[in-house]
Amino acid sequence: MRSAGAGVAAVDALPFRAELTESFEIAGGAAHAHEGVFVRLRLADGTEGWGEAAPLAAFNGETPAGALSAIRRAGRAWLGRDAAAWRARLEELEEALPRGAGAARAALGMALLDAWTRRAGLPLRALFGGARTSVTSDVTVTLLPPDAAAAAARRIRALGVRTVKIKVGRDPADDAARVAAVAAVDPGFTLLLDANQGYGPRESLDLLRRLRAKGARVALFEQPARAGDWDGLARVGRLGRVPVAADESLRGRADALGLARARAVSVLNLKLMKMGVLEAWDCALIARAAGLGLMIGGMIETSLAMACAAHLAAGVGGFQVVDLDTPLWLKRDPGRGVRFGRGGLYDLSRVRAGIGVVPRLPLIPGRADASTTAAAAGTARRPRRPPPRA
Ligand SMILES: [Mg+2]
Repeated sequence: MRSAGAGVAAVDALPFRAELTESFEIAGGAAHAHEGVFVRLRLADGTEGWGEAAPLAAFNGETPAGALSAIRRAGRAWLGRDAAAWRARLEELEEALPRGAGAARAALGMALLDAWTRRAGLPLRALFGGARTSVTSDVTVTLLPPDAAAAAARRIRALGVRTVKIKVGRDPADDAARVAAVAAVDPGFTLLLDANQGYGPRESLDLLRRLRAKGARVALFEQPARAGDWDGLARVGRLGRVPVAADESLRGRADALGLARARAVSVLNLKLMKMGVLEAWDCALIARAAGLGLMIGGMIETSLAMACAAHLAAGVGGFQVVDLDTPLWLKRDPGRGVRFGRGGLYDLSRVRAGIGVVPRLPLIPGRADASTTAAAAGTARRPRRPPPRA
């Protein structure tokens, strides 16, 4: 039966740009700004929900223009459909947007679930299971020289954060120096590594040997081999005696099942932007059923998408690693509401309905589609962009 007033009445796509405090460099390349797309979904009774697409070309090649056109196409198909049957809507979204449009899937799914839970008067975490009311995030150190990495680690310690994720994957000697510099700032830090498939198992094992010689203990190594090299992932875990997490190797349910069956990794890193909300949620349940550990992360996202991920992790429960720090990289977070708090805490206990974050309007238009952005965001002129940093 159709629920009165819960039909999807409008879906708007609003491309935006948020400047970063510094470039975000990983093994696959660097990002100099967050170019994303917000989705505003309105139900027939006037309830609004918000979602965010955060494509990151350096991670998986997705672009703002691709996300925008996918959102427009799939959003149109939802007009008049019942949001109360949200699971059916999310399944339609997966059919309409197969592989390669994870950011658009995430944005539309998030907006639909935000609208539906606002209408129902429930915090989004309750829809996911309501297991917990908060999660605690780490903070990332990117591919910085040792001095700069140590300075970043001191800032992280000052935030009260105890877990530091360090990007590696270009050169084992440089990486070992960076990790040692971070570890020296506070011996109590829990250290996670992420090679973003910049290394094969040989280099990853070399890095672990160098770190062991320096007395640095690694709690988790993310993607220490190419995405398709499941044997390599298993080898690093076995010979390096470290829990290994799949990130780039995990693109959806089939990978989650395959990685679990092959015992290739011990942790799955979920991201809404890789596969959308429903498939990420299903992967969490697959991991729980298979006895694998759970991690949640993101691309470069505002507090809207990060808070949505926090609701998923808190709602399902059992996430050992939470990596939702990217709002810290934004000069001005365009999201307003739930924030990355002291010690990395996402406190969702006071969210009464939905995600608990809305974008501040007007937005700084993104370059995905300048002409319609200006109209959609209600801004008259597009500000000049500073030249990208090298
Ligand atoms: Mg990763």
